[in-house]
Amino acid sequence: MTHQIAPQPGILDVIPYQGGESKVHGANRVVKLSSNENLLGPSQRAIDAYRRVGDGLNIYPDGSHAELRRAIGEVHGLDPARLICGAGSDEILSLLCQAYAGPGTELVHTEHGFAMYAIYGKVAGATPVVVKEKNRETDVDALLAGVTDKTRLLFVANPNNPTGTLIPDAEIARLADSLPPHVLLVLDGAYSEFVREPGYQPLSIVEGRDNVVMTRTFSKVYGLGALRIGWAYAPAHVIDVLNRVRGPFNVTAAALAAAEAAVRDTEWTEHCVIQTEIWREWLARELRRAGIESDPSHCNFICARFPDDATAKAADKALRERGLIVRDVSGYNLPGSLRITIGDEASMRGVADTLTRFMAAR
Ligand SMILES: *Cc1c(COP(=O)(O)O)cnc(C)c1O
Repeated sequence: MTHQIAPQPGILDVIPYQGGESKVHGANRVVKLSSNENLLGPSQRAIDAYRRVGDGLNIYPDGSHAELRRAIGEVHGLDPARLICGAGSDEILSLLCQAYAGPGTELVHTEHGFAMYAIYGKVAGATPVVVKEKNRETDVDALLAGVTDKTRLLFVANPNNPTGTLIPDAEIARLADSLPPHVLLVLDGAYSEFVREPGYQPLSIVEGRDNVVMTRTFSKVYGLGALRIGWAYAPAHVIDVLNRVRGPFNVTAAALAAAEAAVRDTEWTEHCVIQTEIWREWLARELRRAGIESDPSHCNFICARFPDDATAKAADKALRERGLIVRDVSGYNLPGSLRITIGDEASMRGVADTLTRFMAAR
């Protein structure tokens, strides 16, 4: 008989999340292209706002996040009363699981979906249900077929990570409108800012519906991953629930100040989006020329497909030897693929050059 206290059911089934690596043994200059961070960095105004917070560290932050919600509302044309902020969109995903999932319930996500959906679901005691994608694209009919009487949450990232693929808003709207009333659709927009597809307006899917929440982050295009700050736009009844579940001071004053400056600096955001698109399309073309395919990506990464897993792992090694760290996504059910964050010109030329030589030498 054991004398140790046992955690709640489900928690020991969790395999802890592995972040992108940041070090290579022996290499003195490394470029981290493994976590989809913005290598151009945040807005200078965000950095300045962050520094100013240093003068008042003894004072609790504004627990209502009013200024940041007002800024997000102004920039995106949203009602601040229907916004909530969290310590990364991760915290909001976790709050949703705590509030709506639990023992005896299920949550649905796609086969290559973000690992945290299943982790937070299991921690809450729920059972994750994985549905197939169609050629690495979200399949709405498969998602609907995965819904049962026990389903409470359905997670879709659009565009998706690690595939980079996007499905039309109309498909997401059809999904929302086909769900039974006991299911909440969580639309993860971690990469929404990068999408330049005409007509892409995912926040309008939340508008006028009672069953859709959209989560967003400051960790990707805004370059504030270190501060842990994200937000969600949701129906009023969901905001009310999440505000009861969250901690009163869940977001730091530094994160609030930097995020507010970042969201208002739309010029810098636009610059980062355009640079990302230029180098993403360039890299995809160079890799295709070298014999490495990828799906059209709407994110700040591409998911490069090698002939087989052994080749992908050897390519990963060749990149590491040049100090370039990318992400092996075999753990996302994508054996033979490497996810490469779009960085600056020098790092992209380094990746293209290394992989072109690698493929030619095989
Ligand atoms: C990066 C990422 C997030 C989490 O971002 P936070 O840093 O927690 O805001 C959520 N979903 C997807 C798909 C991501 O790639």
